[in-house]
Amino acid sequence: MAQDRLFEQLWDGSAPMEAWTAAVAEGVGTVVADGILTVHSTYFCGSVTAIRTSEGLVLIDTANAALAAQTLAAIRRWDDSAVHTVIYTHGHIDHTGGMAALDAEAAARGVPRPRIVAHRDVRRRMERYKATQGFVSVVQGQQFNYPDYTYPVGQRQPDEVYDEAMVLTIGGERLELFHGRGETDDATFVWLPGRRVLASGDFVIWMFPNAGNPRKVQRYAAEWAATLRRMRALGPEVLIPGHGPVIFGAGRAGQVLEEGAALLESLVAQTLALMNRGCTLDEVLHGVTAPAGLLERPWLRPQYDDPEFVVRAVWHLNGGWFDGDAAHLKPAPTAELAAEIAALAGGAGLLAARAAALAAEGRTRLAAHLAEFAAGAAPGDRAVQAARAAVLEACMARETSLMGRAFLSVYQRDAKARAGE
Ligand SMILES: [Zn+2]
Repeated sequence: MAQDRLFEQLWDGSAPMEAWTAAVAEGVGTVVADGILTVHSTYFCGSVTAIRTSEGLVLIDTANAALAAQTLAAIRRWDDSAVHTVIYTHGHIDHTGGMAALDAEAAARGVPRPRIVAHRDVRRRMERYKATQGFVSVVQGQQFNYPDYTYPVGQRQPDEVYDEAMVLTIGGERLELFHGRGETDDATFVWLPGRRVLASGDFVIWMFPNAGNPRKVQRYAAEWAATLRRMRALGPEVLIPGHGPVIFGAGRAGQVLEEGAALLESLVAQTLALMNRGCTLDEVLHGVTAPAGLLERPWLRPQYDDPEFVVRAVWHLNGGWFDGDAAHLKPAPTAELAAEIAALAGGAGLLAARAAALAAEGRTRLAAHLAEFAAGAAPGDRAVQAARAAVLEACMARETSLMGRAFLSVYQRDAKARAGE
């Protein structure tokens, strides 16, 4: 009952997602339908859905390593039969990291470890994480402000993979798996046609789609929208998102899928229209406007990713890394450029002062350029670094997204440390 009330508050936007995380922190299950339970822990960990069959449980995702035990405990309070099959909706660690706990449970019970089914590209993703573990650790540490973070690799690989679609029939339950590209290239959504239940994976996350992350591999906004349309066409009665509460009712499920698609389609269409006219990235970034009405929906607010980052991802996917500025094709070292600009301006101190004045006027984007030039020209100047820290803090205050704030804060902390603050 309390959960129902909270859902209505999340749906109408009167409660923040933090309230949801607080409510489910101990591992709370939602009975989705007869024999189907979805377990939640925190907003930032993928949910786990358990489906009871006569051959054992089918799980959609596994949670992360830290929350696997409490998630499994919540499932065990509901059903104690062996886990037959695990479906990874994609290869991110908040969806695959709980696999070791499931294997350990199977070993302790003396039963075969679960079969893992996933899209073919999950394997390649897991290999890429090994090859880039240092970089991924740095980025993940920056994004979530985890000092000295090490990204865990080595989750168990899928036993069976598919390319476009796959049907599993397990203990009388028919599960249809479909591939789509969105946040990742290896994503699966699961459709239970007999129940009209859809498990979307991270195609639906109760926030603006994570289709533009500045420091992660390519995302696929157009295909994300197309996949949401495919889901909408199935007509689900229940929508189980990758993150956040289960959405009941064909009307609400359809609205979430429809509006998520429309928002991404608008950003993609605007970006491509400008690219097709030969615009530079600068012109595209400042020429695209996200549809405000959709961004205000409680399930589409840009609290994690940012529409401007999605525009960049669409540019990058279709046009590569060059932004159309001649100086950026073979740029000078940043420190040389900063020293030259500072000398022309009459010193790093004057540049920093101008940056502070611009920030005070609310022109934080422009202020950030000047503050970075000033600090690049005089990295050891404490007053310059203090001004830079203040400018970056003003930039952060304007960001709605976790990513916008997090990546700026990396440099703001650097500036504060150099300023001796
Ligand atoms: Zn996720």
